[in-house]
Amino acid sequence: MDKKEYLFLLNNKSSDFIIKMENYAKINKVPIIQKSGLDLITQIIKIGKCQRILEIGTAIGYSAINFALINDDIEITTIERDELMYETALSNIQSLNLQTRINVIFQDALDIDESSLGFDFDLLFIDAAKSQYQKFFIKFTKCLKPGALVIIDNLLFHDLVLKEQITNRNTRQLVSKIKAFNKWLSTNTDFDTKFFSIGDGIAVSIKK
Ligand code: SAH
Ligand code: MG
Repeated sequence: MDKKEYLFLLNNKSSDFIIKMENYAKINKVPIIQKSGLDLITQIIKIGKCQRILEIGTAIGYSAINFALINDDIEITTIERDELMYETALSNIQSLNLQTRINVIFQDALDIDESSLGFDFDLLFIDAAKSQYQKFFIKFTKCLKPGALVIIDNLLFHDLVLKEQITNRNTRQLVSKIKAFNKWLSTNTDFDTKFFSIGDGIAVSIKK
């Protein structure tokens, strides 16, 4: 057993429905957040007393459902552009009767008028197309209260950001975009940001 596995086993077991979603994601290759990343974010939501959460990238609703299950005061707006993902998320959310607290918007996040979402979010979770992270960040941080948090997943891109030689041209371009975003975020003085080597690499920023 390695240290990750040892610590993982100390955490609470997921419910049957959550395990069912994890299995669906595995079989259908849906890139849901890794367990270690999810555990970090759920604790941050509790510590930060985050109630209004905005998520970019719903997929099957796995992260949104996990956030909603933290407590009954939490409300999530989540955006998904893929129809099959959207339908699957709706069905999962309905199975747990969480539709009053999770609002899924079926649209490309970049086409949304962000002002229609409101300006009172406590947390923005960015977990969609990695090439657009900077656009998502600039657009949707407008919806945050001062002192609110931004959490961003997949900043290591399966450790590809560390690789010197990448033969595939598209992958190389995406990696250089992610690295540029990481650098931009680390020097953005409107936010206080720390990067963590948890899951696939997570940044936690605090809006000043
Ligand atoms: N947050 C989810 C995983 C999201 S996977 C979880 O952890 O459970 C990323 C999702 O973002 C995919 O379903 C993809 O269709 C969606 N996506 C990517 N770019 C998007 C965009 N511009 N607007 C809306 N959704 C987008
Ligand atoms: Mg992710």
